[in-house]
Amino acid sequence: MLVTNQRTEEIRRNILESLKDDNLFEENILQNITRFPVETPDEIYSHLFYVLCDISLSVEDAKRHYEEISNYRLSMERALKRKVRFRVAMLDYFMNNEHVLENPKIVEIKIYELKTKLALIDPLTELYNRRYIEEYLPKEINRSSRHGLNFCVLFMDIDDFKSVNDTHGHHVGDDVLRAIGSIISAAIRVEDVGGRYGGEEFLVIMPETEIEGAKIFANRLLEKIRAHAFPHNMTVTVSGGIASFPMHGSTAKEILEKADKALYYSKYTGKDRVNIFSIERRYHFRYDVKLDVVYSFQGAIINKTTTVNLSVSGISFETERQFTLGDMLDITVLLPQNSETCIFRGRVVWIKEMRFEKYYRVGLAFQDLSDEMIKKLKSILKDLYGNTHDRSHIAP
Ligand code: GH3
Ligand code: MG
Ligand code: MG
Repeated sequence: MLVTNQRTEEIRRNILESLKDDNLFEENILQNITRFPVETPDEIYSHLFYVLCDISLSVEDAKRHYEEISNYRLSMERALKRKVRFRVAMLDYFMNNEHVLENPKIVEIKIYELKTKLALIDPLTELYNRRYIEEYLPKEINRSSRHGLNFCVLFMDIDDFKSVNDTHGHHVGDDVLRAIGSIISAAIRVEDVGGRYGGEEFLVIMPETEIEGAKIFANRLLEKIRAHAFPHNMTVTVSGGIASFPMHGSTAKEILEKADKALYYSKYTGKDRVNIFSIERRYHFRYDVKLDVVYSFQGAIINKTTTVNLSVSGISFETERQFTLGDMLDITVLLPQNSETCIFRGRVVWIKEMRFEKYYRVGLAFQDLSDEMIKKLKSILKDLYGNTHDRSHIAP
């Protein structure tokens, strides 16, 4: 168990402190630690074995083992005619008598603690890593359920990060990730958890927070990122999605999926913004697919290009032409398999100027799709990918 609640954490920390103070006379340890506030007096034995050898024992087993090890220690002292420490007796007892430990490694507590901490921290941004988040979220769900509290998850993804790497190199990309990590750390409250979920994806868990509060926080955070002085005078933006427990789901997986869907909606509607998950909104997986398309505007054929991605609700592509939000385009998709074509009508819902090249990325939302056209789109995607499920996983 990596993540614990605060009370357990405090008890275990106290045990560790006592061990430091008194590692020669371990029989005094329990006299110290029994003074710690625990729910049942015997609970302390479970914590003791967790701290000493990372094993979770029931309170009864832990107490029984503690008493047997204490007696065993005295018999070892009589046989060896010298002092025997509790941990020495415990090791012999667990390995030879009880076989609780089969192949233990003896390690200094300080080193163990450091390694445990490092295993949960992302070295680049110094935020918690995905492993920690996945351990923490179920605990937060339990705690919030027990006390009837809400919490929110904000999922974020850097906009057009690939072009930062492509233009300035991975080192600068890493500097941007580090800077965003620091902005997040400085912005969150002590009770919040800030993490790097994946490559350029970040997450903030906000305990005891209502959706509206989370949205205010998220918009402030996005503003701080937008206003930050990144290297090479770059403006970096992120898109975000918010989901709330228990409103949007009862498991960690559900909450993360909903926050990711809301994030995807922010991307699809123009990036550099935050959305709250909404049950009414339809979310579709966007497939990164390169298909030849011809698009025409106001009756005139404009250009042939390839799509950047395609979903059941829209398409995005790159163009040198500058469109205006709301423009209606006819898109003819040329299908590779059977040289068939397929025409869709779409409205421009977002435009992103690619700063370092001379072109725009344009997102179209399909308009007035008949059931037949939806079927057609699904079959195109099915031919390419085998299924057309709504986005039901976390973005890679
Ligand atoms: P979008 O706005 O749709 O999110 O576009 P994008 O370019 O950010 O998205 P895409 O997923 O295409 O690219 C993500 C990029 O993030 C690709 C990958 O090379 C980069 N990346 C992921 N992890 C790291 C990292 O640790 N360091 C650096 N420098 N780049 C990373
Ligand atoms: Mg991404
Ligand atoms: Mg991105």
